[in-house]
Amino acid sequence: MYRDTYKRIEREYEQKRNIANQKYRELKEAIYASTPRLREIDVEIAKLGIKSAKLSISTANDKEQIAHELKAQIDSLKAEKEAILKQLNIELRPQYSCEKCQDTGFYVENGTTHMCPCFKQELINESYSKSNLYKLKEESFDKIDMNLFSDVACPEKYKTNISPRDNMKKIIEFSRIFIENFNSPKQKNLLFTGTPGVGKTFMSSCIANEIINKNYTVLYQTSSLLLNSVFEYKFSKDESSKELYNSLFNVNLLVIDDLGTENLTAAKFEELFTIINSRLITQYTKTIISTNLSLEELAQTYDHRIISRIMGNYNILRFYGDDIRLKKK
Ligand SMILES: [Zn+2]
Repeated sequence: MYRDTYKRIEREYEQKRNIANQKYRELKEAIYASTPRLREIDVEIAKLGIKSAKLSISTANDKEQIAHELKAQIDSLKAEKEAILKQLNIELRPQYSCEKCQDTGFYVENGTTHMCPCFKQELINESYSKSNLYKLKEESFDKIDMNLFSDVACPEKYKTNISPRDNMKKIIEFSRIFIENFNSPKQKNLLFTGTPGVGKTFMSSCIANEIINKNYTVLYQTSSLLLNSVFEYKFSKDESSKELYNSLFNVNLLVIDDLGTENLTAAKFEELFTIINSRLITQYTKTIISTNLSLEELAQTYDHRIISRIMGNYNILRFYGDDIRLKKK
């Protein structure tokens, strides 16, 4: 399954690349047709290039001097070309959807080839019920309507003097800091708690989208589906799905949605703990957990080991207010 997905994405990348290159060639042809000087420059540069290649094997005394002059000529031609393109306001290079890997899916750093985050993300999207992330793709911070949150504090109902609107402002601030400091080991993870319909899923998808835009990998999954896929892998021992299982541990951002709705068995609990715990020690990984349970209920449901990890390493943000989903209708 994994292998098929991999192959398919590879083919898609090849297609993307071909399209970008084709468009580039067409653009170049059109521009060269209307500005012939550009083609002349290319021809001259090529001729000078051949000359300097020949020079490198020559034994002439003034070899260095000539090489210097050739290079100066080439540089001046390149500058002329750049100036023309700048005047035309045209960037003459293929427009890849990912600059980092130029739509190859891989990039080289310090002599080693790495899989590009964009390719990893495609694999994750395709392999873990992609609908999850696709549905959320539209969500962004600028779509938050603060009017949906009451600016009146209601201590009897929410047990705090802070109005839902001010609370939401605080949550947005914490979320922005989380995004900004995503790479920092000092930045804590996030736990969103609160009753359904108060914006937890919306907020975690906003963050997920921003993190993807920063070229990190994101896996968004409900707690119960996530644990089911762990067990599927463990029981089938399917080697090809190993990479996906591993992504639970090394994906840059893991969003565990709806913690507390899974049917928790002792074995599942251990898996959950292993994932949460090992992500705390892996570099460049962060986790967002969202749950309808209160902290007290979490403490009753889960072993103290998970609770102590959360208390020590997560910023706990409580969502409250009226059900937004009802208000929007
Ligand atoms: Zn890429």
